[in-house]
Amino acid sequence: MDKRVDISVVVPLYNEEESLPELVAWIDSVAKGEALSYEIIMVDDGSTDGSWSVVQRLKKEYPAIRGISFRRNYGKSAALYSGFEMAQGEVVFTMDADLQDSPDEIPAMRRMILDEGYDIVSGWKRKRYDPISKRLPSKFFNFTARLMSGIKLHDFNCGLKAYRRKVVKSIEVYGEMHRYIPILAKHAGFRRIGEKVVEHHERKYGKSKFGLERMVKGYLDLITVTFMSHFGRSPMYLFGTLGTLMFLFGGVTAVWIIVDKIYSQAHGYMWRGVTEQPMFYLALLAVVLGVMLFLAGFLAELINRRSPDRNSYLVDEKIDD
Ligand code: UDP
Ligand code: MG
Repeated sequence: MDKRVDISVVVPLYNEEESLPELVAWIDSVAKGEALSYEIIMVDDGSTDGSWSVVQRLKKEYPAIRGISFRRNYGKSAALYSGFEMAQGEVVFTMDADLQDSPDEIPAMRRMILDEGYDIVSGWKRKRYDPISKRLPSKFFNFTARLMSGIKLHDFNCGLKAYRRKVVKSIEVYGEMHRYIPILAKHAGFRRIGEKVVEHHERKYGKSKFGLERMVKGYLDLITVTFMSHFGRSPMYLFGTLGTLMFLFGGVTAVWIIVDKIYSQAHGYMWRGVTEQPMFYLALLAVVLGVMLFLAGFLAELINRRSPDRNSYLVDEKIDD
């Protein structure tokens, strides 16, 4: 199938068989109501229940369904990434399969992209129907992500988002990075990131697919995303700067300790042996760490230079005649 449609709805799903029929019917009625051509891309992330056969059955009734099924569970980010690869819509939506996100938001979000010129419109679950054990860490994460990325979003991890097509074709989502797609997009050069308050519902069927480990992974991924977007292309700027500072600090301190000792000795002042001063060992440590940071920077640059996408800059448009 190769035809452009008005909207794509990418739905990552992991053991959500009960929700799928309602979700598809709902999206279909919203799209029909607005006279939009659409496709629903069901990405089955290695479900062990009957989710994939439900998708196959639904396909008979709704030809607009497309789909892909992973052999095992790779995680929501991988599911979104594969969905993005398939998507052909002018505006691409992502939506959780569990009916917590409402397809009724689609028309307004689409208009924000097409008429108001946003590259991304992220949902904001202002009134959330989730347990407090989830809302509190989430507040903390959003605060940190805002601080580190400079993007003013209240709800980075909202499953419901709308993208201009070229955005989803330019970003690579892996690990648990789905939480930080706006940051990846900003790094890829898409600056117009908007937000819309969206309806949120309680989970109707099944249970949440994420446990407490989401906090650890989310935190580590935030560090990776931040590092990559500042220094991914030139790691030496970070490691080289730190290494040089360390090395200089250690070197200067060591020389000063030695000169001070020789000078005091020669003039008959009180003096201490070089190795009797704690500061000397700290200086030594700083020199060694400085060299190691430098080496890390060099290695990172070497690896960068050899990786195949080294010269893949994101080209927006081209005049070539
Ligand atoms: N999901 C997925 N792969 C996973 C975990 C979750 O595709 O490994 C899907 C899940 O089926 C749902 C969406 O990601 O459609 C959000 O998951 P969930 O509702 O469990 O997250 P929560 O609402 O608790 O943040
Ligand atoms: Mg959910």
